[in-house]
Amino acid sequence: MPVLSPEQELFAETVGRVAEQRIAPIGARMEDDDEFPHDLIDLYRELGWLSLMTPAKYGGAEAGSTEWVILAENISRVSAAAAQMFENFGPAIPLRFLGSPEQQDRLFPLLEHRIGCFAATEPDAGSDLGAVRTQAVDKGGSYLINGEKCFITNGGVANFFAVVATVAPGSGLSGLRLFMVDGVESPGVSVIREEKKMGLRGSSLAALSFENVEVPADNMIGGETGLRAAQQLLDFARPNVAGMACGLATAAMEYALAYTLERRAFGRPVYEFQGVSFLIADMAIRIEAGRELAYKAAAEVDAGGPRAGELASMAKVFCTDTAMAVTTDAVQCLGGHGYLKTHPVERMMRDAKVMQIYIGTNQIQRMLVSEALARRVRGAGR
Ligand SMILES: Cc1cc2nc3c(=O)[nH]c(=O)nc-3n(C[C@H](O)[C@H](O)[C@H](O)COP(=O)(O)OP(=O)(O)OC[C@H]3O[C@@H](n4cnc5c(N)ncnc54)[C@H](O)[C@@H]3O)c2cc1C
Repeated sequence: MPVLSPEQELFAETVGRVAEQRIAPIGARMEDDDEFPHDLIDLYRELGWLSLMTPAKYGGAEAGSTEWVILAENISRVSAAAAQMFENFGPAIPLRFLGSPEQQDRLFPLLEHRIGCFAATEPDAGSDLGAVRTQAVDKGGSYLINGEKCFITNGGVANFFAVVATVAPGSGLSGLRLFMVDGVESPGVSVIREEKKMGLRGSSLAALSFENVEVPADNMIGGETGLRAAQQLLDFARPNVAGMACGLATAAMEYALAYTLERRAFGRPVYEFQGVSFLIADMAIRIEAGRELAYKAAAEVDAGGPRAGELASMAKVFCTDTAMAVTTDAVQCLGGHGYLKTHPVERMMRDAKVMQIYIGTNQIQRMLVSEALARRVRGAGR
């Protein structure tokens, strides 16, 4: 079992209980009607979870990557779509770690009343972030932002945006900066469309337009190191996706186990056929290993350790590949019934797929891990 402090254990218990009692019914409704659940945002706000990453000084819990994994894992066990909403932390994390005291004093009180999102991806810039075309033009005292973003979680409901934009088009990664855009004070952000997607039904995924959005120059976070700000957020967030994947995989495994112990064929429970029980044993083995890795990565991120990025990528790959394999095998364990919407495993399989894709695809994570390995041998640090 991952080593958690007594406070973290208590938090995990609380989240697990609230997930079972209050989030599961909302998650089920999201799956049915595919509508964004504003009452879930109200619930998260009431519980103080929306400001989990906000420093204590501004009324938040000042929690770390580990708490985010706890939150993600326990909510994802009942609804991955409900866990997805915490991409809300997109602006809070870079503001907390790279924002100046003045920026924090000004922006955290605003953020408390907003729904956040992180807007990096564009139609022609996903894995290749250096191709970002959204431009921020320096007007002296303010920046004017123009461009288009896509695949933005919470995009259709957000009113506070952490936006990756370039100040020097064509200069690749070196021209990227991170801007905080308060949609209330800086008009010009609009939703181009809400996407219809394979899974995570009820969560918002939108394409956004930024048209002459004027933001104070002081809203640039991390100065020239815009890429570092984005990187920091991603290191912080990848263990959360690993946690989500573990929660989802655990729920699928438990469902398949219960079902196959009951379901009979050839006069006995199908679980008594090794072809079935070994599938489930492999699920349990992979989940156990994945959880360890997810919490280890989060602990390294929280400690600011030298392997934070590498472990975050490893955890993201291992746990999301596990979730995909486990949910697919769970459908197999239920036979034809697994393919029906009367059981949750088909929903879990659809929800698992995206975890291998977003927040940097698993190919990109393998690339980052392989680069980190080579750097260590060559002695070049991070
Ligand atoms: C549900 C969902 C939520 C999302 N939420 C957000 C969000 O909140 N904010 C945000 O900014 N973005 C978000 N994204 C975008 C997501 O991060 C990107 O889709 C992802 O990074 C991949 O980019 P792409 O879709 O452009 O794929 P591409 O970059 O076009 O990649 C296509 C394929 O090529 C592979 N590939 C590309 N380059 C390489 C390489 N060098 N080596 C090996 N393989 C490579 C990829 O792995 C992939 O298989 C979300 C996406 C989804 C589906």
